[in-house]
Amino acid sequence: MSELRHLSPKFLHDLRTPLNHIIGFSEMLTEQAEDEGQTGFVPDLQEIHAAARKLLALLQSDAPTSPHEAEPSHEAEPSHEAEPTVSGSTPTASNEPMKAVQQSNSDQGQALILVVDDIKVNRVVLSRRLEKQGHAVAMAENGREALEVMRAQEFDLVLLDIMMPEMDGFEVLQKLKTDDSLRYIPVIMISALDDLDSVVRCIELGAEDYLPKTFEPTLLKARIGACLEKKRARDREIQFTIQLQQNFKRLQELEKQRDDLTHMIVHDLRTPLTSVIAGMQTLDIVGDLNDDQTEMMTIALSGGETLLGMINDLLDVEKMESGTMQLEYSALDAETLIFRSIGQIASLAKDKNLALLKQVALELPNFQGDAGKLTRTLVNLIGNAIKFTPSGGTITVEARRSEDEKTIVFSVSDTGEGIPEESFARIFEKFGQVENRKAGRMMSTGLGLTFCKLAVEAHGGIIGVESTPGEGSMFCCAIPLAMPAA
Ligand code: ADP
Repeated sequence: MSELRHLSPKFLHDLRTPLNHIIGFSEMLTEQAEDEGQTGFVPDLQEIHAAARKLLALLQSDAPTSPHEAEPSHEAEPSHEAEPTVSGSTPTASNEPMKAVQQSNSDQGQALILVVDDIKVNRVVLSRRLEKQGHAVAMAENGREALEVMRAQEFDLVLLDIMMPEMDGFEVLQKLKTDDSLRYIPVIMISALDDLDSVVRCIELGAEDYLPKTFEPTLLKARIGACLEKKRARDREIQFTIQLQQNFKRLQELEKQRDDLTHMIVHDLRTPLTSVIAGMQTLDIVGDLNDDQTEMMTIALSGGETLLGMINDLLDVEKMESGTMQLEYSALDAETLIFRSIGQIASLAKDKNLALLKQVALELPNFQGDAGKLTRTLVNLIGNAIKFTPSGGTITVEARRSEDEKTIVFSVSDTGEGIPEESFARIFEKFGQVENRKAGRMMSTGLGLTFCKLAVEAHGGIIGVESTPGEGSMFCCAIPLAMPAA
């Protein structure tokens, strides 16, 4: 057959096209005859089919080596001239109306597939084959029409010819893959067997797979099945993501409702609680209480004040989170800040027999900060150190300048029970505590460190912890010397 080499690529292509049609139609007729029990035709049809395949194989074996020679450009040669027509008519978009498509049923292995090919017989052979495999099919005879149809209806898969006049398969593919509403529809390219360069380019452009022009039913079924399976998996993934997003949004709404409700309750608790505390404080003055009564009153008052502290913590954390709490800046001196903080809480350390030390570096510059918030931050850190350090331990409060001289670094270290590393992040979160600790710390809310973090960060600073369980912890916060830029 080496004589065939002398034939022009165009002529070889023209020979292969009708041969593919003979193969396709004889296959379908064979199946139809078998289905309808007209088996008498089958051997003859098989002969035709075998002869056409043999001829095609001879042509393929002598195919030109240059891929683009294999399928001449349809622009150079209008496709309708060379292609055989069905019932003697030349197909156009207008005389071949879109097939009515049924609802995609890809969950049961059936799908809605769009076949795009400028040659009518190719479209017909392919779509009949697909319908036989249980799919619903629509057809388009060029790229422009394909894009129109795809924008109007959702397809599970597109079978796209590469060489088409007007807009070729590459351009269609590019347009599909850059269109957010169409990019997830899988595309299988239909190509001549020897046009591997084009196939590679299409796969690089985002095509899922390719099918050779001589449609082999089993291969067709397998490739389409695999492609649809991937599409179904992707659809499920998208569904799942949408569901997750909806759940997340719902969760956020519920969280907001919960926070609003908590805020309302907590806020409303504060007023009567303040009255109770004020009442108890005056009782001591106006009443003539005996020792037992005074002791009970002191316990009740201390409980009430702790409760009020917890309520205030909760409201302040909320305010800081929502950004509604403003900082009141003034020039501060680290030593005074530490002195005041220790003053508020020293009695607790003494009660527990803890040494409370202060180490302030010499000649520290003043810095800008909110005295109230930073004092409370230090009181919280020192309070925790007292709470979590057994009697006889030592707590050290320090202030120094950072190496880059841009911040004042405060640290509170203790010789207490320590914190496991896996809890470092959690303890700064709202209500976050080291989980495996025994309950019974009635006055713990898990809000103290949240307040510290929000307050330090509002100053443009950072807070962190280092700890070794059993040996102690050190909380550090760095506050910039200057106010952060607004
Ligand atoms: P609270 O002390 O009210 O529980 P915090 O936010 O102040 O809330 O602290 C959160 C948790 O961090 C504490 O419950 C404790 O588990 C842990 N923690 C804080 N400071 C220390 C410390 N110095 N030593 C050991 N654990 C600590």
